[in-house]
Amino acid sequence: MTINVLTFHGFYDPLIGINGDHDCIPSSTLEKIIKASTKAHFLLVDPMSMPRSGDTQKSVMLTFDDGLESCHRIALPVLSKYDVSGLFFIIPQKIGMTGYMSQSDIEDLIASGHTIGSHSLNHLDLTSISTAIAKTEIQASKKILEERFNVAVDSFSFPFGKYNKTLVKICYDVGYKYVYTSVCGINKSLEVQRIKRNNIYNNISDSTLLRYLDQPLGFRLGIQVRDFGVYITKKLVGDHCYRSLRNRILRGR
Ligand SMILES: [Zn+2]
Repeated sequence: MTINVLTFHGFYDPLIGINGDHDCIPSSTLEKIIKASTKAHFLLVDPMSMPRSGDTQKSVMLTFDDGLESCHRIALPVLSKYDVSGLFFIIPQKIGMTGYMSQSDIEDLIASGHTIGSHSLNHLDLTSISTAIAKTEIQASKKILEERFNVAVDSFSFPFGKYNKTLVKICYDVGYKYVYTSVCGINKSLEVQRIKRNNIYNNISDSTLLRYLDQPLGFRLGIQVRDFGVYITKKLVGDHCYRSLRNRILRGR
């Protein structure tokens, strides 16, 4: 089995207006991905019933970072329409804040058959704080979500995709079963220590979308070169400056 885990963030309604954020996509892109996956005979995996290795089925899994309110308002109806389940990574301290899902939005997600995971307590860069604070971010977020929503929280995704060996170990030590990164690529199963994911961004073309699903070797190499370029640029100009530069360039298109 191969599993292509896709990452989404926010959604916008094209009828209301174009959102300039690189990671915010229209609901039509989500719909297109679900249709393309089905057409290419990918199995849309339910995160509740984690697949096991051993067969040759190609699968796609949908994950949603940050717990944004548009996930509930815009993405949920699309998932319900196609009867597809998703995994939503929630930041407990941001529940109910402007732009984020409320307690009842998340309860609604769970009642609709979706799964929640933790995206840390406060969405800090866990590699830039002390190990003790990072451990609290990882451990307390799991406990709070489990108590607030009365579900098991087995999955964790790193804020900003930033992690190291120590943080991965902490995640497993405190009881997570699945640790999601933002490193691009396809997983042979979910029984790997660091699950790779592929971010879906705004203005992704239809042809790129299809190659994103299948990821032929040349395409994968291209992504690795691009990610290395992003890594170097972030090192040189800093994360914040990189994000505003990227958004400005994309808006100017
Ligand atoms: Zn995030």
